[in-house]
Amino acid sequence: MKTIGIIGGGQLGMMIIEQARILGAKTICLDPTADSPAFKISDEHIVAAFDDQQALEDLCRRSDIVTYEFENVPGDLLESLKEHIKQGVRPLLDSQDRAREKNNARENGLTPVNFIEVNDMDSLTEGVKKIGYPCIFKTRRLGYDGHGQVVLKSDADLEKAAAYLPIPAVLEEFVPFDFEASIVMVSDGEKVISFPIGQNIHTGGILDLCIVPAPICETLNKKIENLGKDFMQKCGYKGILTIELFVKGDQIYFNEMAPRPHNSGHYTIEGCNTNQFMELCRFLLDMELQEPKLVAPTIMKNILGQDLETAKKIAEENHPNVYVHIYGKTESKPKRKMGHITFVGMDLDEYNKTWKHRFV
Ligand code: AMP
Repeated sequence: MKTIGIIGGGQLGMMIIEQARILGAKTICLDPTADSPAFKISDEHIVAAFDDQQALEDLCRRSDIVTYEFENVPGDLLESLKEHIKQGVRPLLDSQDRAREKNNARENGLTPVNFIEVNDMDSLTEGVKKIGYPCIFKTRRLGYDGHGQVVLKSDADLEKAAAYLPIPAVLEEFVPFDFEASIVMVSDGEKVISFPIGQNIHTGGILDLCIVPAPICETLNKKIENLGKDFMQKCGYKGILTIELFVKGDQIYFNEMAPRPHNSGHYTIEGCNTNQFMELCRFLLDMELQEPKLVAPTIMKNILGQDLETAKKIAEENHPNVYVHIYGKTESKPKRKMGHITFVGMDLDEYNKTWKHRFV
């Protein structure tokens, strides 16, 4: 029986473990928080900081293969452990810095949103002159769910971005996209499989709904799939990767990527014949990847703290084809991801008619 080591013990780690068990693997998980969701079901765990080299080495020693579900592990630390990390360290390093991420995307066939690197007031005002309003200021590192971002509509907003300075950041054009989409892929180094493309609806910078299939024609669907797979192959990435895109007409802009299971891929657990966590585990365990297929149109609704009680009630109501996942986090906060619900056999119209009113 192989043991998968997982750096990070959040809900992503927990869902990796659920699938690892089905494939006959054991797990050991590292996270600084003693009551991490994944610890409840992992075979073993280590409570340690993500920059604790000794603890990371211990995790590697006790695992046959190691993966990460947390993106901000210091890159130089991972470098020293790279022979254990099957996915490699480069995808993580590429994704940790927005400027590097966008340059890498451009060099490998994708079109990032027009951007400029800024780091102080002079470069910010210079950048605004070049990009024009509206634009978005984003810190290069440690941004997630809209953190470290400021939308600039006029000079009056410069102060808000200036509050972050001096810091390495990017200033990017605001794209009036038709919608956001993402594609989750897994590669074993030769074959790349991809999950059906979903449309993502964000509220306040946080993913709210994922609608699958995305409302796009077959041609655009194929184009995104080919762009994604080519990108993974050109980069030489292995393992799991999600790319987030803005779609405007038939233009496809790269926004960002994540070399780990992704929130927009949670729908795959019940919405597809195989799911993102299972295919990641197959990759880690040297098993042949399976081609994903959508079972039925599916909607994934994220459950933040403010919707947790409603989600628990929906679970008790026992609706067919409605799957409530509660992550078991000890502390619930309004904007914290506490769970998600997957509605299988549901499109957006029906969701809006029958479910939308239940949530805040
Ligand atoms: P990010 O952290 O880069 O994914 O940004 C969070 C959300 O902000 C995205 O999912 C979009 O809804 C919005 N956003 C980010 N960048 C842009 C942009 N350049 N143009 C328009 N909307 C954006």
